[in-house]
Amino acid sequence: MAEVSSPRALAGAAELAWRGAPAMVIVYVATTLAQALLPIAAAWLTKALLDALSRHSGPVLGPALGLAACGLAAGVLPAVSSFANSALGRSVGLRATDRLFGATERFVGLRHFEDPAFLDRLRLAQQSTASCHGLLGSVFEAGRAALTIAGFLGAVALINAWMAAVVLASLVPALAVQLGLARRQAAMLWRTSPAERRQFFYGQLLTGTQAAKEIRLFGTGAFLRGRMLDERRQVNRVRRRLDVLQLASHGGLELLAALVAGGGLVWTGLAASAGELSVGDVAMFAGAVAGTQQGLNTLAQTIAQISQSLRLFAHYLRVTSTPPDLPVAAVPLPVLRRGIELRDVWFRYGDDHPWILRGVDLFIPCGGALALVGLNGAGKSTLVKLLCRFYDPTRGTILWDGVDLRDAAPQDLRARISAVFQDHMAYDLSAAENIGLGNLPLIGSASAIRAAAARAGIDGAIEALPRGYDTLLTRLFFDDEAEGSAGVELSGGQWQRIAIARALLRDDPELMILDEPSSGLDPEAEYDIHLRMRAGRAGRTSLLISHRLNTVRDADLIVVLDEGRVVEQGRHRELMGRDGPYSRLFTLQSSGYVAEAVG
Ligand code: ADP
Ligand code: MG
Repeated sequence: MAEVSSPRALAGAAELAWRGAPAMVIVYVATTLAQALLPIAAAWLTKALLDALSRHSGPVLGPALGLAACGLAAGVLPAVSSFANSALGRSVGLRATDRLFGATERFVGLRHFEDPAFLDRLRLAQQSTASCHGLLGSVFEAGRAALTIAGFLGAVALINAWMAAVVLASLVPALAVQLGLARRQAAMLWRTSPAERRQFFYGQLLTGTQAAKEIRLFGTGAFLRGRMLDERRQVNRVRRRLDVLQLASHGGLELLAALVAGGGLVWTGLAASAGELSVGDVAMFAGAVAGTQQGLNTLAQTIAQISQSLRLFAHYLRVTSTPPDLPVAAVPLPVLRRGIELRDVWFRYGDDHPWILRGVDLFIPCGGALALVGLNGAGKSTLVKLLCRFYDPTRGTILWDGVDLRDAAPQDLRARISAVFQDHMAYDLSAAENIGLGNLPLIGSASAIRAAAARAGIDGAIEALPRGYDTLLTRLFFDDEAEGSAGVELSGGQWQRIAIARALLRDDPELMILDEPSSGLDPEAEYDIHLRMRAGRAGRTSLLISHRLNTVRDADLIVVLDEGRVVEQGRHRELMGRDGPYSRLFTLQSSGYVAEAVG
């Protein structure tokens, strides 16, 4: 992916703002411009007033009224500008969030979501949705400061070219130093951001529920806190170095500014007493020196902010412009009649990753129950990912009644499949919603949800919860409707049954995938679930992965996968008749050993 250039990032931010709230953009630009010119107008009016007073000629009322108007504008404009800025912030934030999440939905596969570098980028992009209007704010602020400086220089040049040259001379070294500092500050912020993110990660660990048990049991709290503080100290050290540098450079710059201003004032004062300059000119000079110095500080600060926000926003633009992770074609899938065929399927997660599947040939006949067994890491769950087209095979093809899955629309394929994934979800939602998510049109149908729960053998347990199917299954949120009482957390096995109920809510899927659906259950419950699922599977094409071989013995075909290769396949009896891996594993398990070694 190409890096995003700064002008492109700026244009992207401007486009978001313009589309979101054009009127507010106009108000913001207008008030910013007016604020930029205000100090120059005030200095000019002061000069006119002083000249009129000291020479006892010329209008006094006009400049005085003008100055009063400037004062009023100086009070009102920042408020209007800040109003427009927050309105812009709200609108840009909403639009940016919408676009970002819209983009993540375009990633129909899993590649990006299983790539840590991409996930990191996604987090940064999410952060930038909250700050991207600040980027525009900083750009305008910088523009305002530059305009003020240029305006003062122009105004002074009109009075005396030498005076303008002195002011300019004091600005050039200061600008160079300030820009250098700004660049260092931006680089520092960027360099410390990984440490800041790690610090955040430790903070989350220490305050979240997920790690609370282990932290207490293993007594790792102080250790993790120590690591968190180490990260913080590291950030602090870098910041301190920069602060010292800033202090020293600012000291030097202030000295330079004071010298220029002092020298200039002596010169203008002498020139005024000699009658070459007016009293107003001296006042104008003093105003210009102060105004330009202030403008310069603002300019340097905002440039540092801009550079930081641009880097963050570039992540946002890269995420939103990332193309879909899978080529999306749309050959309609036929209703499954013959079966699903894997033809010499090779797969690896990336070019620098090892092969996970190595030339798998497999046929899942329509209406048949195929069981896949193999050791941990054999590639079973990966094969499930390919069947759902979360990834395309690196080589070889998967054919759905002869149609290559690469040519099918993922949504079309997934509408035909129901699945219990090995790492199924536990949603912090009500029990009914947890099941209803399996088939959205039925999420409001209490009877369908109850029937699915009954088939998964969890109906009774849900009924017994404080608010039955409406009980919030969570430890995270308070259940508002239940008068602030916390939700309920289920056991691992109960969650597994909920996941099964969710999968069963899909009526009549053409392919049912069960990836170790009962691994968290005790043997009795597993047997119970197994019987129910066998009934549910009857006559339906299914792929069952289980780490307990006795649960797959009645499958139509048992396939043994080892290091990404099919090493054996057949019916239970057939495989037991051979002295192969299946019969060895089965014998081991039935004698009660190493159930954990398989799966
Ligand atoms: P099984 O389900 O048979 O236990 P998996 O298919 O989950 O095996 O994993 C097979 C291999 O693929 C493992 O070595 C695992 O580390 C690797 N693997 C799984 N997911 C990813 C991923 N997203 N990126 C890289 N490697 C992965
Ligand atoms: Mg697995």
